[in-house]
Amino acid sequence: MVTPAMVRVRFAPSPTGFLHIGSLRTALYNYLFARRHHGVCILRIEDTDRTRFVEGAIEEQIASLKWAGVTFDEGPHVGGQHGPYTQSERFDLYRQYGMQLVENGTAYYAFDSAQELDDMRARQQNAGIAPKYDRSTMRNQYTLGEAETRRLLDEGADHVIRLKVPLDEEIRFHDDVRGDVVVHGREIDDQVLLKSDGFPTYHLANVVDDHLMEITHVIRGEEWLPSTPKHILLYRAFGWEPPTFAHLPLLLNPDRSKMSKRHGDVMVTDFIKKGYFPESLVNYVSLCGWNPGTEQELFSHDELIAAFSLERVSKAGAIFDYRKLDWMNAEYLKAGNPETYADQILPDLAQMGYTYIDRDFVAKVITLLRERVTFLKDIGTFGDYLFGDTLANVDPTVWSDLTSNDALRTALTHFRAGLSADVLRDADAFKQFASSCAAEAGMKVGAMMKPLRIVLTHRDVGAELYDTVALLGVERCLPRLDAFLEVQA
Ligand code: GLU
Repeated sequence: MVTPAMVRVRFAPSPTGFLHIGSLRTALYNYLFARRHHGVCILRIEDTDRTRFVEGAIEEQIASLKWAGVTFDEGPHVGGQHGPYTQSERFDLYRQYGMQLVENGTAYYAFDSAQELDDMRARQQNAGIAPKYDRSTMRNQYTLGEAETRRLLDEGADHVIRLKVPLDEEIRFHDDVRGDVVVHGREIDDQVLLKSDGFPTYHLANVVDDHLMEITHVIRGEEWLPSTPKHILLYRAFGWEPPTFAHLPLLLNPDRSKMSKRHGDVMVTDFIKKGYFPESLVNYVSLCGWNPGTEQELFSHDELIAAFSLERVSKAGAIFDYRKLDWMNAEYLKAGNPETYADQILPDLAQMGYTYIDRDFVAKVITLLRERVTFLKDIGTFGDYLFGDTLANVDPTVWSDLTSNDALRTALTHFRAGLSADVLRDADAFKQFASSCAAEAGMKVGAMMKPLRIVLTHRDVGAELYDTVALLGVERCLPRLDAFLEVQA
């Protein structure tokens, strides 16, 4: 049971690159869980590994999260009572806590050189055993004794601080997604907590911060599951109560391979560039690994908050289906307000050099064409014949087939002569008019419509022809008909 007022969760990215779609899901689940339980959602920057730091990554990640509507109550960009929220500003703190463990005997000094560690690994490899720090054969507080350890420290010898993992015990914890997890101490490395430069490792900083920031639920990717027994041991070493853990399933490509750059777009910025709505990306991503237990697929932001629960997060890897995401984006495009969309694409349309971009007109075009595209921005190219004065070049083979069709030329000559606002007053009037033009040329009206569409729009597919012609208006149709009729057969 979750005690509502108690919930404090955190999203803890490392600034090693742009925001990955899997990280967006982790952030989103933390956010939804916090909002669902009227709790607090914290952003913490885990930049202990300075060698992997990427300039600008923090700002980009925060911007992508903001775009997706994931907001934080505490964090480096908003402040809060538990700061600083960037780990590189907390290094002294980790050192103090690390030393506390040396003093209470749950961590120890180790003086091994890089060469000694390499040799140890080689010995283990030759013996066919998994590499793991072998406390009993290496140079540490236990093998050297207290006096020698002290002497080396006084001398300023290079050293790290390692966690003393019990070798004769099973570490158990409960995971809200995976159930009970048991790992034997023998399988866990004596994790380095403080490096030789005095900087903390992820494990120490992560546990110290989760405790000090009073985190109640750690919701993170499955790749951190193997680290959790170490974290449990750290909580025990400090005498702290561990939070509840929930490890989220991996995101997979449709072929079940791990989602990575090699397989397509995986950064949130890629999805933004492609033109997805934040609402549809968030809606889709929320369903990758969680299911509402009903058939409902389209969820508003508030509906997601109301429906989300960790109990319905699945253990199995979640397939990220780009086609399903496209479908969802198209659904959002069909449902939204055309005027709002018009405002969003007007600057682009202006930049594309179009002339017919009055807001009301653009909204009408969006209403007409949105069933046929996946992205709002595609309206600009798909509807070029409605926004512009001129038309793109038509495929010459299609064009010549049409220009040599005498009946069609006759029908369209009648069409050109009779086209008026009156015949465009409604769909029936237009249909009657078109039929009469076809009849004059001895054609079936059905056979005239597609060529007429090509002549007027230079495309063979599009919305209802009446709607298209009505939006174009008489003045813009006439020169297009002339352009066709003037071509010598
Ligand atoms: N800094 C880790 C990451 O990059 C956070 C892992 C955790 O949430 O504990 O994903």
